[in-house]
Amino acid sequence: MKYNKIIKKVNNELVAFGNLGNVASYIPELSAVNTSKFGVHLTTIANQHASFGDADEKFSIQSISKVISLTLAYKIEGENLWDRVGVEPSGTPFNSLVQLEHDLGIPRNPLINAGALVICDILITHLSSPKEDFIAFIRQVSGIPTIDYCNRIAESEKSVGYKNAALINLMKSFGNIKNDIDVVLDFYFNLCSIEMTCKELSQTFLFLANYGVCPFSKEIIISRSKSKRINAIMQLCGFYDEAGEFSFKVGLPGKSGVGGGIVAIHPNKYSIAVWSPKLNEKGNSYKGIKFLDLFTTETKFSIF
Ligand code: GLN
Repeated sequence: MKYNKIIKKVNNELVAFGNLGNVASYIPELSAVNTSKFGVHLTTIANQHASFGDADEKFSIQSISKVISLTLAYKIEGENLWDRVGVEPSGTPFNSLVQLEHDLGIPRNPLINAGALVICDILITHLSSPKEDFIAFIRQVSGIPTIDYCNRIAESEKSVGYKNAALINLMKSFGNIKNDIDVVLDFYFNLCSIEMTCKELSQTFLFLANYGVCPFSKEIIISRSKSKRINAIMQLCGFYDEAGEFSFKVGLPGKSGVGGGIVAIHPNKYSIAVWSPKLNEKGNSYKGIKFLDLFTTETKFSIF
């Protein structure tokens, strides 16, 4: 498949759709991003690469890191994990509080903020130095030793993190948070602050396109069965109340972040990352989704 040619063609078609939406201004540091940035990088499991635009520029991956924290927690806890967090699509915005009280503090899935906070709590219980151990894991998964947190973005989010504080307090009241609230929130904001380029992001997610095994190092990151389940969760929950729409239009498991990044994987083929900072009303990259919609239409390949 001539991915470079297809990416170029799709990018020409994309011009007609404009660059609509708004940056995630609720995190002050994210509102400073240049909204005309646009990058794409595709890595195949055979280590072929195709790239376009600002694919080598770092951006804040935000909620995309929730898939990697889920991977580590699932690896550690196994199926016990699902006593603390569900696997159902929420159909609500990523930071919504409405279901949590009804569901007695058990988040619908690990990719909404409430679920990711529970995953952070679990990791803090198990890891001796949570921040150091987590960044070491993400470096191992990606094979890129320079991936790091961005303190400036973590602090910026912490200064306005009222909704996340509300979510975690509610869950603590139901007994579904075991550690100190401030410690869990600090870990969560740091996870969200991780920066990557499109190239690095596509490389990081390649193990999920290769049944849990990093295709380069041949290292087993997670078992085949768990890899299948993480992909299923991305398919159903990766875009919050737009997960159905993303499935319908793109037909791949994926995950978005409010930094404007999206990563999607095609099992046994590739991992693709797109970055465009302006978000639609659901908090997902407007141009990123449009690009992937046109891309899977053009390649005629999806998981369906
Ligand atoms: N750090 C962001 C938050 O907690 C992550 C949200 C996202 O990327 N969807 O609001």
